Parts: sequence; structure tokens; C-alpha cells
Amino acid sequence: MSALTTFLMGHFMRWFPHRAETGLRAVGHPDENSPVLVSCNYTLSVARLVRELEGLDVWVLVAQSSGINVWCAACGGEFTDHQVISAVKTSRLSEKVRHRRLILPALCAPGMDVKNIRDKTGFRARFGPAEASDIRAYLDAGMKKLEGMQRKDFGIGHRMDMLVSMNFVWWAPVAAAFAIFWPEHLFHFSVLFWGTALGVYVLFPWVPGRRGWTKAFIVTLVLVAGYVGAGRIVHDDPFFYWPWIVGAALLTAMIGMDLGGTAGPVPSDAEEALHRMGVKSMGSFMKEKAIGRVTLDREACTGCFTCNGVCPIGVFGRDPVVRKTRLARRGDCFSCGACVKQCPERALRLAS
Ligand code: SF4
Ligand code: SF4
Repeated sequence: MSALTTFLMGHFMRWFPHRAETGLRAVGHPDENSPVLVSCNYTLSVARLVRELEGLDVWVLVAQSSGINVWCAACGGEFTDHQVISAVKTSRLSEKVRHRRLILPALCAPGMDVKNIRDKTGFRARFGPAEASDIRAYLDAGMKKLEGMQRKDFGIGHRMDMLVSMNFVWWAPVAAAFAIFWPEHLFHFSVLFWGTALGVYVLFPWVPGRRGWTKAFIVTLVLVAGYVGAGRIVHDDPFFYWPWIVGAALLTAMIGMDLGGTAGPVPSDAEEALHRMGVKSMGSFMKEKAIGRVTLDREACTGCFTCNGVCPIGVFGRDPVVRKTRLARRGDCFSCGACVKQCPERALRLAS
């Protein structure tokens, strides 16, 4: 993929799948003892991983994910142990390396049965860091996850990264309509759109509400109040700017629709709304899965703490008395399903 295509895909079109070639890639000069990192076949994911690995000698095993990023593909059933098993076998990995270890991206935990990978290929798979930028430190530490490496960072840098890439696709067609039919309002529309989006993404942790639509609604309310106030003061009519007030309300629905996993760890409103309407799956983007918050069967729990190792936001804590896990921050659970999939005792499930 050319640098320009990577740039466009990464900054403006992350909603769309884009397939990288699957198979085994050599980064640097790997040998039979070099680590093997597994990646999905979303072009941007592969490009970023390879960039982070510059200067190292490692194998990258690119498995099929239908061109979708790790987290979405794992949650949607497109990047599972079956795709990894297939990649290991078709690449003849066992002939390239002497060891039998695979490093999986941490965020694929919702879709991976590591026992099945071991049974079918002989390779032991473990979950590496959540961020590609931590891979080098993880390898330097002897494939040990240091403090915070299993957590997904939803900091301001991440949110700014997602701001344009997730919203450009909404802005562009509407802006095109403005350019054709109401060119004199294009600038105002763009300022309103990006101003609202910026407000939601920058202020995300501080805006009240647990859901994306709630947060976007609150930011939009501030805008509407501004229009009403301006109309009242300048034109003596609070609804003078009524088309823009309606537009601001529509922005709530667009920008807040699916902030889950993009601006912060919040449940996906769009997914839940579809579930309520009876639509449980949708092509390669959404497969049927349980939604709701995590629940724990304390009797079944053995205290292995696997759940804590895969939760991207640190919902779990250790009960010091009975030495089992406990749901220390259950209210923060956003139903990714990683802990449910990885619990060896089936002690966790998602329930509304
Ligand atoms: S993974 Fe399952 S068995 Fe292990 S500590 Fe968590 S809930 Fe308990
Ligand atoms: S507790 Fe919730 S957010 Fe954490 S891994 Fe389990 S399902 Fe995902």
C-alpha cells in the first residue's frame, strides 16, 4: 500500500475495511528464534505495527480479518482463533521457527480461543500489549506486560486521532450537499459540525453521561443555547436560527452514534438500538453477541486473574480475603466481551 493510501485510510476512512495481504512477513532479519507477532489484515494496523518494529528482527503473521481492525474484527467474529490457525498452517510457520509462541494483539481477546490455537497448531498464544507503541518495551522486557500495557489508552492524543478519521465520512456528503445547494452556508455548517465534534472528543471524559448519545446531546444543548441566545439578542427572535438549531440536534445523532471504543470506553448506542429493534448482526461489521455489563459467578471463580489481564479498562480487582477476582469498577464495563471469552471457568457473562 502506498504511503498516500495509508494516510488517507488512516485519517479519513477508518469506517471502511481495507485488506492487507495475509501471510508471514519478515521485519528486519528474523531467524528461527525470533518472536512472532500476529496482526489482523487491516492495512493501517499492519503498517503501524511494522513501523513500530523498525530496527527489530521479528516475524509478523498477518491473519485474515476481512480488512477490519483488530478490536472491531475480534468483537464482530472476523478475527478469531480460526483465522490465526489458518494463518499458522498456510504460512508453514512451524518450519520457520523452532519455538512455539505467538504474541497476539491484546484487543483481539474477545474473539480468541487460545486453547484451540494450541490444540490445532501446537503454538502457545499469549496476549501482548494493547497499543502497538508498547511492543518494543514488551519484547525488551522478555515478553512481559509492564504496568498498564494491557489497558487501552483513550487519552487526548487517541481522541484527536479518532476525531477526524471517524467523522470525516459524516461531514463529507453533507458538506457536498451544502456546496451544491447552499454554498453560502457551507462554512457555517463546517464550523458547527467540527466545533461540536471537537467539543465531544476533547471534553469526552468530563461531559456527564455514560453513553455517546448522552454526551453528544449535552454538548449540542450548549450549542442550541448559543443559537437561541444569539437569535434573541441580535434579532429579538430566539428561533431566528431554527435551521441551525435543527442541524445541531441532528449532529447529536451522528457524532454520538458510536463513540464506543473510539473516543472512550462507552457502550455502543447504535449497537444497542439495533439489538432492541431485533437486528442482532450486520454483515462483517456486527455479529450477534451479548450486551450488558459483566457479572461474576464467585463460586465458579478460581482466582486465576486472566480476566484482569485482558480487560482493556481495568474493571477487575483482587479480593484480598478469598483471593478471587472482584468487579471493582463494574459500572465502567462496556461489554467488549474479552473477559467472558477468556475466563477458563466460564465464571463471567454479560447481562443487561
Ligand atoms: S478469569 Fe474467570 S476464573 Fe479466572 S479470576 Fe477471572 S473470573 Fe475468576
Ligand atoms: S469487564 Fe467489561 S470491559 Fe472489561 S473485559 Fe469484561 S466485558 Fe470487556
